[in-house]
Amino acid sequence: MLEKEITELLAYAETHLMLDELDRAQAVRRIVRLLKLDGYTPYESDDEEEGINVDGLTAPDALIEPLISSAIERGVITDAERKTLKAELMDAVMLKPSEINDLFTDTRAVNTQKAFDFLYDYSVKSGYVDLAECAKNDRWEAKELKSRIEVIINLMPQATTDGYPECALCYETEGLGVNANKRVVSFDIGDEEWFFTYSRHQYFDRHGVIVNKSHVAPADGKAMLEKLAAAADFVGAEGFVGTNATVEGGGAKNVSHEHFQTGFRSAPALRAETRGRFKSKEYPYIELTTVDWYNTVVRMSHSNLEKLVEFADKFITAWKGYQDDRIANTDGKKNFVNVVARKINGKYVFDVMLRSNALKKPRTAPEYAEIKTEALALTDLLGYFVLPNKLSEQLQQVQLYLDGSVAFDKNVLPDNMKAFGGMIERMLKEQGGTVTKLEAKLNVHDEIDAACEKILSATAVFDKDSIKNFFATLDINEL
Ligand SMILES: [Zn+2]
Repeated sequence: MLEKEITELLAYAETHLMLDELDRAQAVRRIVRLLKLDGYTPYESDDEEEGINVDGLTAPDALIEPLISSAIERGVITDAERKTLKAELMDAVMLKPSEINDLFTDTRAVNTQKAFDFLYDYSVKSGYVDLAECAKNDRWEAKELKSRIEVIINLMPQATTDGYPECALCYETEGLGVNANKRVVSFDIGDEEWFFTYSRHQYFDRHGVIVNKSHVAPADGKAMLEKLAAAADFVGAEGFVGTNATVEGGGAKNVSHEHFQTGFRSAPALRAETRGRFKSKEYPYIELTTVDWYNTVVRMSHSNLEKLVEFADKFITAWKGYQDDRIANTDGKKNFVNVVARKINGKYVFDVMLRSNALKKPRTAPEYAEIKTEALALTDLLGYFVLPNKLSEQLQQVQLYLDGSVAFDKNVLPDNMKAFGGMIERMLKEQGGTVTKLEAKLNVHDEIDAACEKILSATAVFDKDSIKNFFATLDINEL
């Protein structure tokens, strides 16, 4: 039973996952046990045309699916246990965590990028990063905008913490249930042990996390900046490393476990050009610019990490205590930052994103609260706008009004569409009536792009001129 399918899975693992011939028998025994089979006889066929061409596969799903179906049909697992069985079957044919670590570390000693490429490829081929599932998210690039932000309506389930040690980021989640095929690589920051792994979500290219092996709260001040710089060293020239805000209402989902987000340096915010050049009296050698981006980003760089950290820490401390007639930071607790670090040509670069919960805001349209329900996370600030699941259905409904499939009456909208009444009315007017399905879809995309731009802009704490008042408190002048 399932001889052909198991033989193909083993062939796939030998080609793509480095399954060694000497580990094959043990892998078979685990597969047989997981699937509750009586045994396994290798499948042999003279027909070369038969079966799946495993060399050409980029993911294991086509091989795993018949094994899972059989297990469900025979009552070995329930449908709800599909993902766990997939992870465990893959784990049976994968390298051990220690072997992955050795390969990664040896490769990284020669070529950092190759090491990350290896781990990424392995994470995809092992099915931990499921690109087919990621592709189910509604996703598009805002082509009309100069910044080309990307909009992602997340349809993937969020990681749950049920039964996990402390939280979904914890090191101990490696190997548990649906994480059986998760592989992480370990490295040190100072005298602490950390690990890196790719994110299942892939909100952006090479989306990963760098996590403290201990479940500890994020560091602050100089310690945070030093760790971030060390993490930037670790990911190498092609990557970035960024912090989520740790204050309440700062947009981070997990503030209890110290971690950074990582990705490719081509993120929209990191591509943004210089807006103004500045110089600090105390640290004249530090390159200091503002960035032409929606929210307030100050970019600072130097090859001397100690001096850069010293300056950045003073800068951030000053921001946290800052207030003026637009920023009512009366208790000194409402200003905060996200910091993104890179190492470019031997120089450390910090993008410090100034944020505040004390900003006096104008009232916004009701649909904005539906489009973005939570405060902006680092991902959003970088230009990868992640929108809530329910929006997918709501926007499809908006399209039906715009293309005339459903008659629009602002006074009789279903509850989940009430917030969009004004928006649909305005869009119908702008379109000059109903339009084709394709046009309706593109119009909705344009509308959401513009809304994301406005939501992001609304988090700016300064404009070109008012930032000079803050800079003056630090003896920083425009060049
Ligand atoms: Zn944790």
